[in-house]
Amino acid sequence: MDPNCLFCKIISGHIPCKKIYEDEDVFAFWDIAPQAPKHFLVIPRKHIAGPAALGSDDEQLIGKMMRVGARLARENGIGDGFRVVFNNGAEAGQSVFHIHMHILGGRPMHWPPG
Ligand code: 5GP
Ligand code: ZN
Repeated sequence: MDPNCLFCKIISGHIPCKKIYEDEDVFAFWDIAPQAPKHFLVIPRKHIAGPAALGSDDEQLIGKMMRVGARLARENGIGDGFRVVFNNGAEAGQSVFHIHMHILGGRPMHWPPG
């Protein structure tokens, strides 16, 4: 845990959130500023700054995040169509430096993304 990290504080309960799911590895909650009718985040309990900071021993964890994210999408009514986004670095729009998988759905998604 990084004491200065917003998402570590959400995991520990020091900052409230609308939790969807948690287990020993991952935590999922609704985004505070949703960009689609359904928009939630899946994060690992382990503090990792972002995709570029992943180590080889994190590969299973990232796979689990995707599997849990897809299941939660299905359980929340967007299983047939959802967008998965990881932002890496401020230039790409990353604002919280604890790796997170955005899952968005409930409206048509456009390509290319902005
Ligand atoms: P990023 O821009 O780093 O890819 O995504 C960070 C996301 O975290 C944004 O979509 C933002 O709305 C969300 N977020 C920031 N602060 C909070 C918070 O305190 N609670 C929740 N639930 N989401 C947050
Ligand atoms: Zn963190």
